[in-house]
Amino acid sequence: MSLVSINGLHKRFGDLHVLKGIDLSVREGEVMAIIGRSGSGKSTLLRTINGLESFDEGTLDVDGERITVGQSNLRNLRLKVGMVFQQFNLYPHLTAGQNVMLSLTVVKRMAKKEAESIARDMMEKVGLSDKFDYYPDQLSGGQQQRVAIARALAMSPKVLLCDEITSALDPELVNEVLSVVRKLAEDGMTLIMVTHEMRFAREVGDQLVFMHQGKVHEHGSPKALFSAPSTPELASFVGSIS
Ligand code: ADP
Ligand code: MG
Repeated sequence: MSLVSINGLHKRFGDLHVLKGIDLSVREGEVMAIIGRSGSGKSTLLRTINGLESFDEGTLDVDGERITVGQSNLRNLRLKVGMVFQQFNLYPHLTAGQNVMLSLTVVKRMAKKEAESIARDMMEKVGLSDKFDYYPDQLSGGQQQRVAIARALAMSPKVLLCDEITSALDPELVNEVLSVVRKLAEDGMTLIMVTHEMRFAREVGDQLVFMHQGKVHEHGSPKALFSAPSTPELASFVGSIS
């Protein structure tokens, strides 16, 4: 039984055909790593899965609920699917803790006390219990990204989407964020992550998807694909990155 299932999904921006028939599925507790060149449609795919983008053909099933073309009430979908972006997008005038609490009080209409208790748990989960009252500009990029992860987790998503979440970080800060993600995976979180961290994808991923020109060009176990790419496109991509 899949937690996320994408079937025959197409997405166009006007004349630009960005996703050309995507079929993928992720089971509960699995980690799917998505790689591919810039412009291959990775971000659009993730944005479609959490309802930030509509799609033109196909179906999307998340946690037993089907989303069809043109569906506009995506509140349930967005509650089930968390997302973390390359840019952390924290509110600068709110503390880390307040950033984590915000969706709980506003979207879930939770009482402040309850929201704070969850936010403290999530900050602990990302190793930042002592930074609850710090403002984003008092935190490193790696710490800010961990707050963004805590914020997404606070909503108890069924699946967490990560779109190049370490790409904006200085190299020495990448690992602290990856360790948090690795821990989430070990704890059974279902993850779909677009990443340039090939070693991480290989170690943590259950499935590897190589996107090329709007299609799933190769798909399989990370170890198999990395050690023996079956297409020249993946071979050259792997060569260009590592
Ligand atoms: P990736 O994340 O793999 O770099 P994207 O999904 O961001 O790729 O983009 C895929 C293609 O869709 C690119 O050609 C990009 O320019 C185009 N695109 C993405 N978002 C939009 C948009 N909102 N409007 C028009 N074109 C877009
Ligand atoms: Mg992208």
